[in-house]
Amino acid sequence: MSGLPINRLAERRGDEAWLNREFANPRSRVMVVSEGRVLVCGQGREARLADLPPDLRQESHYQALLGKLESDTWFVASVSKATAENLASEQGARLRGLRSIVADLEGPLAGLAAYARGLDLWQSNHRFCGRCGTRCEIDQAGFRMVCQNPDCGRVHFPRLDPAVIVAVGYRGSILLGRQPSWPPGRYSTLAGFVEPGESLEDAVRREVAEESGVVVGHLSYHSSQPWPFPSSLMVGFIGEAVRTDIRLDDELEDARWFAPLELQQLVRSGEIILPFKASVSWHLIADFMASRHQLDISSWGGGVWQR
Ligand SMILES: [Zn+2]
Repeated sequence: MSGLPINRLAERRGDEAWLNREFANPRSRVMVVSEGRVLVCGQGREARLADLPPDLRQESHYQALLGKLESDTWFVASVSKATAENLASEQGARLRGLRSIVADLEGPLAGLAAYARGLDLWQSNHRFCGRCGTRCEIDQAGFRMVCQNPDCGRVHFPRLDPAVIVAVGYRGSILLGRQPSWPPGRYSTLAGFVEPGESLEDAVRREVAEESGVVVGHLSYHSSQPWPFPSSLMVGFIGEAVRTDIRLDDELEDARWFAPLELQQLVRSGEIILPFKASVSWHLIADFMASRHQLDISSWGGGVWQR
């Protein structure tokens, strides 16, 4: 997976004069978030991130400096719901949840929205110090939350929850499962959170065994992806099963071994829907099929889960 090609300008995070000047600069871009949603103009391929107009920046304050993407310096600002709704009607924009926009926005902008939303969520969940309960203030251009109790003063840093996701193979077939809450027919690679005391490999083997009963032997790292739902870093692996009997727990509604041509036929007919293309699970399945079977899943068409 390609990362987000942004210069995070970390060296500027403590430079208040520069930050205030750049935030007010009409050439800077200011993404708007409100109550966990992002203001977006247009739809489908026309979608783009809406901007906070320079006159409104006086009344607002940046929430975080995101960095420089190509020639633009990007901030994110949080505004009230009323302000966001006014902006939405002026700009013909809409507040949208991140899940609904990552598939619409062009490459780096989807990553940028995910990055901003990840910081926004972390800040909103750390308004109070986890040690003493006193209010925290945003510091370092959004990258630290500092407890305002002089007897505590703990500095909180953005946190991520590592999660693992794996394409498990056996004699050319691939193991996919589905959760009961998913749209009908949607299947994906198995995933789960890493627990304290575990390596990533331990977590893969435990999750697959718990959810499907399958025992995984050899594993190799594939790629990783920020997954701000709410604050995960997905670490992708490709593994090989050493025991293949399926025994479901209550997390998955179904898990199955799919032979490659069977999966191709089920996707083409729309009976099986694969994860959306920006996701690490799609890339795991795509690489599995390409490297082992010379099959290009992007040509399968049919059901690709979009939302
Ligand atoms: Zn504290």
